[in-house]
Amino acid sequence: MATLFTKIIAGEIPADIVYQDEHCVAFRDINPQAPVHILIVPRAEIPGIADVPETGDHQHLLNAARKIAEQEGLAGGYRLVINQGVEAGQTVDHLHVHLLGGRAFSWPPG
Ligand code: 5GP
Repeated sequence: MATLFTKIIAGEIPADIVYQDEHCVAFRDINPQAPVHILIVPRAEIPGIADVPETGDHQHLLNAARKIAEQEGLAGGYRLVINQGVEAGQTVDHLHVHLLGGRAFSWPPG
């Protein structure tokens, strides 16, 4: 099912794209929770982490996150978040990794 993120990947909805490769597209979150807040979205239409096949190469999402963090100058650290399901606050049913940085983060998260 086409989601908001599918439309952003297709260029049908504008977004501030900061990185893309054959596997994924990354763009700034419209409602940033930190000075740097980027969503890394696989081109494959996978609803969430619960739907990721056990086999297959998904390392590309982490590779992209590392490259974007370097690109954004987040040498002091950053946080990666995947929300899965309603209780975790997932609002878009297309797998995405939040890359947050540019401030200190507390633990546990809210
Ligand atoms: P989730 O809550 O599913 O983990 O994350 C969805 C994220 O998508 C939220 O942080 C929200 O701010 C972001 N978002 C929702 N609509 C748009 C949009 O139209 N453009 C962009 N760039 N981000 C969006």
